Amino acid sequence: MYCPKCQAEVSTVVQEMTESYPVKGEPVLVEAQVRICSVCGEELWDDVLDSQNLRRAYAQYRKTHGLLQPEEIQEIRELYGLSQVIFARVLGLGDKTVARYENGSLADAAQNNLIVLARNPENFRQLLEMSRCRITAQDYETARKALEQVSRQVSYNPKQIYVIQEDTDINFKLNWGDRKYA
Ligand SMILES: [Zn+2]
Repeated sequence: MYCPKCQAEVSTVVQEMTESYPVKGEPVLVEAQVRICSVCGEELWDDVLDSQNLRRAYAQYRKTHGLLQPEEIQEIRELYGLSQVIFARVLGLGDKTVARYENGSLADAAQNNLIVLARNPENFRQLLEMSRCRITAQDYETARKALEQVSRQVSYNPKQIYVIQEDTDINFKLNWGDRKYA
């Protein structure tokens, strides 16, 4: 890799150091992987490492702000057997919104909260009924069947923790239910 300070191709090493990444105007500290010139010690730009560091910063920001992580949004959506577009329509979001969040974009707080609430089958049932004009009869049936299955297998308590009543293959999807969202 080229080092501008040495003005030569140099060998490099990757070091872990605490760095501050701005996320929505807020500095977020992450344990970042940084590429260093092994000759002069200058920090060198590395696209791949930088995008990984940024992903860590986003994940940390979500944690601090009580936002769902992308994989958690995906798990909620998959509970109901829906594609990203249809899940977004049921929630009344734009067609591409859920795809964007699952791909790592930061969710808006209100939309995040809507998805958190949709994790509760009773809330989802209401949303599904309200969305019938926006989705096909087939998508409605898919969601309704998945919802029935979810409702049979879990119950919801006021502490937002799912209680698993049967040992089924959806357990692993629900096991993160004891995480707290402030
Ligand atoms: Zn150098």
